[in-house]
Amino acid sequence: MQAYDEWASSPEERLKSFKHWPFKQGPCSPDKMAEAGFYAIGKKSEPDLAKCYVCFKELDGWERDDDPWLEHEKHAAQCPFVLLKKKPSELTAKEILTLEVERSKKFMVLQYDIKFKLLQDLKESVLEELEKTGKGGKENRKRKTSRATAKRPSRKD
Ligand SMILES: [Zn+2]
Repeated sequence: MQAYDEWASSPEERLKSFKHWPFKQGPCSPDKMAEAGFYAIGKKSEPDLAKCYVCFKELDGWERDDDPWLEHEKHAAQCPFVLLKKKPSELTAKEILTLEVERSKKFMVLQYDIKFKLLQDLKESVLEELEKTGKGGKENRKRKTSRATAKRPSRKD
């Protein structure tokens, strides 16, 4: 399940997450990673797993010479943080708020996708079960004809 790490909006907090990060210096050092929106989520077992706090993209397999901005752009070109192309210290208050909104939206979409997938899997397994027990004959699976829904007048007018 995706986690919504409230604290990850702060570049200082993101920086703290890189305790086990394998590259202490160079193009993808912890400070450069945090600056490009990433924070470490892999702990000790997966030290090079990082995630963007806005688009939630998770990337691993980092190499010493990787540029976090380039990698971010390559794997999540539509990320609102990437599109701004600004260091956290250069962001205006409005941009910070906009990023928070985008982040919440993205999180809701991800949650929805996960729930939708779970429900679909559930549906599949229920149908399979019905099929097996012989209770899923054609009659039971017949779709109800959809009723035409009359449009109600909008109250906003
Ligand atoms: Zn991103």
